[in-house]
Amino acid sequence: MSTNTIKCPSCKDGIINLSKTTYDLPDGDKLLLIKLECNECEFINKDVIPLTTRIEPGISEYYVTEENDLKSKLYRSPTAKLEIPELEVSVEPGPAAPFYFTNIEGVLARFERAVMVHRNSLDAENQDTKEMDEILDNIKEAYLGNFTFTLRIIDSNGGSYIIPKDESKYNFIKLSS
Ligand SMILES: [Zn+2]
Repeated sequence: MSTNTIKCPSCKDGIINLSKTTYDLPDGDKLLLIKLECNECEFINKDVIPLTTRIEPGISEYYVTEENDLKSKLYRSPTAKLEIPELEVSVEPGPAAPFYFTNIEGVLARFERAVMVHRNSLDAENQDTKEMDEILDNIKEAYLGNFTFTLRIIDSNGGSYIIPKDESKYNFIKLSS
């Protein structure tokens, strides 16, 4: 019998299954992905811990021009800002901002959902509705690689990064801390 079983904080009956995966980055750094999952209910919790602190403060940019670029993985630390200026969308840093370990397609999906929720909360006469529809159209094109855009992570503490599918479309500007 295992002595370190964790009871589910949600249903109180289930047992939490803990799985750890180490993810190797091309530059030799490592990430730890932790997943907590209940065997009884829907409870699930995922977290990502960079196993290194040597990722420097800076501005990472990736210029997306085709569908394959969307597969580039990235990590946004909670203190970093993530933005796509061409779509006028951004995630501000803050304690409530979620950890991000995803690829660029995953970022588009999150923005699409957020814009959709905002759009549906407006009434039909609202001027912003048209603007929201335009952003949603552009996101749809972006999924297909038909809308070129810049994904930018501004991180003054370090820890965030993009793993580029195409090095020539990636740019890093070092910030002094
Ligand atoms: Zn449970």
